[in-house]
Amino acid sequence: MPANSSPKHEYEGQRALAEVLFNSIGDGAATTDEFGKITRINPTGLSIIGYSEEEVLGAWFPKLFIAYDENSQPVPLIDRPVTRAFVSGEIISERTHYRHKSGRLIPISMTISPIMVKNQPVGCIEIFRDITREYEIDKMKSDFISLASHQLRTPLSAIKTYSHMLIDGFMGGLTKPQLRALQTIVSASNRMNETISTLLNITRIESGSIIVSRKPISINQIIEEVINEHRLAAKDKKISVSFNQSDKPVVIISDAVVIKEVLSNLISNGIKYTPANGKVVLALKSKGGQAVISVADSGVGIPESSKDSVFTKFFRAENVIRQETSGTGLGLYLVKGLINELGGDVWFDSSENKGSTFYISLPLLPNTISVKSVKK
Ligand code: ADP
Repeated sequence: MPANSSPKHEYEGQRALAEVLFNSIGDGAATTDEFGKITRINPTGLSIIGYSEEEVLGAWFPKLFIAYDENSQPVPLIDRPVTRAFVSGEIISERTHYRHKSGRLIPISMTISPIMVKNQPVGCIEIFRDITREYEIDKMKSDFISLASHQLRTPLSAIKTYSHMLIDGFMGGLTKPQLRALQTIVSASNRMNETISTLLNITRIESGSIIVSRKPISINQIIEEVINEHRLAAKDKKISVSFNQSDKPVVIISDAVVIKEVLSNLISNGIKYTPANGKVVLALKSKGGQAVISVADSGVGIPESSKDSVFTKFFRAENVIRQETSGTGLGLYLVKGLINELGGDVWFDSSENKGSTFYISLPLLPNTISVKSVKK
């Protein structure tokens, strides 16, 4: 047998090849053992975090790779991707921040996978990438939308004010066709205003600059108010909108404006996606430290294949596109973002052609609400 084809040489050859492959990965790559000690890191990984191989090898992964959130706060150990990958045995992909040796926070996109041997996790492998450039582009995009939206608001309010003055006869009598044209202008500018608010709110959430206030508010009263704002649209479509009042009023410490925005989106979807003569029913319960509001409609429902995507930005299900209903696919994305800011949750049940029920839960006690400051 030639010396260089012995099993030992073959094994070493494969090891060397694995090493070369690992070091050639264009993204950062690091592995740990079952105790979370770093066993390997490639040159790209070292250049992303700025440490030398000697400083990294043998270090405890969570100590060196501290994950930071959007607000530059360290993520608690239990919530870090590495811990969750170990505990759940699942692959976790997400964006986070790591701290470079120089102290600078770097936005990172990472995937961490448990290394399983005979169904037991024996370590983790993480592939990570510096996404500073994408991050900057995202920020520029958000800043642009924010600026454009603010600039659009001023001319829009002039259009609305003068249209109303014309409708109210401040500039002389109008013919019926002229009045109808003006009503269309007003409703189109209202829609545009809503889209601008949605865009502004989304940029606030995405940039982490939304601020939620915390005051005692009556959920029952908020529900009544939002229903009233949608009475006209519901009447036009002959849809009844009702509220099953709970026995006792539910008061929570939260942000009334944000909750109204969320409910308004859910109710207007209920009306929009329910054929004429249908109904939208709201209910409120408090259980397990949460206030749970439901918005049920007898509408077109959400196809099974679309259920995983409805909270995704710009998503519209194929059954509503077919019916040519107008929409941006931003409402539920915004609802989810806002509810997260309030420390709550949103989910739904739906059957196609039968109807949908959207639920939101909000913590009754303030200490479970995320304590973020709010810019409005
Ligand atoms: P938009 O209504 O502007 O399209 P949303 O983000 O509010 O956007 O909703 C996303 C998609 O989810 C809708 O396009 C529709 O397909 C589906 N959807 C939302 N609410 C309902 C509902 N009450 N009934 C049926 N489909 C709904």
